[in-house]
Amino acid sequence: MKAREADQLLDAAEATVPAFKASLVDSKRLLESCLAADIPARISSDPSCSSCGPQVTLEVRAEDVPRLAALLQESWHDSIAREGVAAVASGAAAEHDEPPCPACGATAALVDGACPDCGLALS
Ligand SMILES: [Zn+2]
Repeated sequence: MKAREADQLLDAAEATVPAFKASLVDSKRLLESCLAADIPARISSDPSCSSCGPQVTLEVRAEDVPRLAALLQESWHDSIAREGVAAVASGAAAEHDEPPCPACGATAALVDGACPDCGLALS
């Protein structure tokens, strides 16, 4: 999927959600992964947040959030395989069975199917 097609799909969507907030570099990498997986996504800056610095938001259709979450989990596992377990095992994530929240990285157990930290619906 091309960025322009994704743009049109997002414009036509009933609802889009800011699904992921990250540095511009990470967001661009994630955007490419989304497009490669045929998940329409685009990067939008977040003018309401002046304290975040150079962070941008990845916008997807509300119905595609579960697909994005699955994609993020895959790329998470990919990065473990690529960079070695030691790189991530030292983090708190290794101590939990829960996959980290794709939006904020929290590994706490879900509350009503949503991240207790940022409220992203994950179930
Ligand atoms: Zn979260």
